[in-house]
Amino acid sequence: MHVEILYIEKRYREGKTVKKIMVLTRAGKGRGGNDDDDEDYLNSTFASRYVREPIPKWRMPEETIPKEAAYQFIHDELMLDGTPRLNLASFVTTWMEPECDKLIMASVNKNYVDMDEYPVTTEIQNRCVNMIAHLFNAPAGDEEAAVGVGTVGSSEAIMLAGLAFKRKWQQKRKAEGKPIDKPNIVTGANVQVCWEKFARYFEVELKEVKLKEGYYVMDPEKAVEMVDENTICVAAILGSTLNGEFEDVKKVNELLTKKNKETGWDTPIHVDAASGGFIAPFLYPDLEWDFRLPLVKSINVSGHKYGLVYAGVGWVVWRSKEDLPEDLIFHINYLGSDQPTFTLNFSKGSTQIVAQYYQFIRLGVKGYKNIMENCTATAKVLRNKLEETEKFDIVSKDIGVPVVAFSLKDSSKYTVFNIADSLRRFGWIVPAYTMPADAEHISVIRVVIREDFSRGLVERLVSDILKVVKELDDLPIPSLTPINTDTVIKKKTHRQIEEEVTQHWKRFVKGKKNRVC
Ligand SMILES: *Cc1c(COP(=O)(O)O)cnc(C)c1O
Repeated sequence: MHVEILYIEKRYREGKTVKKIMVLTRAGKGRGGNDDDDEDYLNSTFASRYVREPIPKWRMPEETIPKEAAYQFIHDELMLDGTPRLNLASFVTTWMEPECDKLIMASVNKNYVDMDEYPVTTEIQNRCVNMIAHLFNAPAGDEEAAVGVGTVGSSEAIMLAGLAFKRKWQQKRKAEGKPIDKPNIVTGANVQVCWEKFARYFEVELKEVKLKEGYYVMDPEKAVEMVDENTICVAAILGSTLNGEFEDVKKVNELLTKKNKETGWDTPIHVDAASGGFIAPFLYPDLEWDFRLPLVKSINVSGHKYGLVYAGVGWVVWRSKEDLPEDLIFHINYLGSDQPTFTLNFSKGSTQIVAQYYQFIRLGVKGYKNIMENCTATAKVLRNKLEETEKFDIVSKDIGVPVVAFSLKDSSKYTVFNIADSLRRFGWIVPAYTMPADAEHISVIRVVIREDFSRGLVERLVSDILKVVKELDDLPIPSLTPINTDTVIKKKTHRQIEEEVTQHWKRFVKGKKNRVC
């Protein structure tokens, strides 16, 4: 200890910073001041012994390390993740205004479920539900609370909506003395994986309408044909994950109304508007897909997609109280008033709700409209530039979610998987995948246009795609290269190894049904 004090004094005289002296004092007093500890506090993280030790991976380490070192290790390892803003695979928001970041940090320690303690946050979620329900033309009056809930994403929202349909159908069947053991949902084979999850977790059969080449959404005629007395709902998608296309909900409503009349059933519709729910109301206000159609009983939307909030928020709204069975609702009594809750989890963060409300009041209808128009214009630029190359068929639509999905006209020499793989070298993350049944022979690349993907980046992306395509075009055709059996085993070229890896992933992806989110 004595030595330390002398040392401090010496440093002080030499004009070292006050901060360093304080740190040394803390080390001396708080931790007994052995040599190692002193060194830890004096040296920079990279000069400390911690960088020489392996990073703990399997067991919690016995010892404590300085916060600076812990921060640095984790921060540095995370640098090897992709750059979120160059991740064109995802619909999920990667940029928000710094003012909203501030609000997020300010509410990061609030547990949403403590409604007694944080009644304002609860109130803010209810305001968001009201705004979304009105956006989707729910029949609720202006001052009437809409029926809906904030969730962690569309997946949780879909679980809840699906449960409500299942319960309603069971109640009706029970009352009629009919069996309730074989519920099903009719969807297109293009459904997002969360529907398959719902089906498996909650024991409902998914009856999928098959796709075909050139038609990658649910065919309304075929869907309604598949409806039977055990169908708890038809799930239509506003913005197919695979190519952004809107399914024809109006047509489903029309055909199903007819079928219900003929059969005496009352099969309802759910709209999975995960990505399209914040596109259609602003860009295509006359498109009827929402509660304007009488059979649409519930709609989900991802707040973290075109709702423009960071990952972790979704919404589900019901047409009316009657469409959400009362026995699925838990009533929490807070501040003497009744707060109904209907979620799968208990505790969760408040930040996403706050952030969603920020976007709603900050941007307003006008702001959302401008952003969605910009995204659509950007998608058009990308689409046109890709078409100019004459190498690609565009499988996304002009009307729909702003994504550009494209397949190769000629895949005999290389595939979209090679292109996606090579684009990684430039930092771009784009998914390539095969279409579901019966269009598995078509494989596409999809680029999602988000708010923060601006014109300059599109131009860079196109030029990188062109570079990659030229490189692949210039390669010798692998299958035509004669194999010389006389020579000893040839070392694989870098390119061959890369291709083998691509082939491996291609097989891996093929085995999975749907890799995109
Ligand atoms: C993204 C998506 C989902 C899943 O939504 P999360 O918010 O990621 O849980 C469901 N359906 C469709 C159509 C989607 O695009």
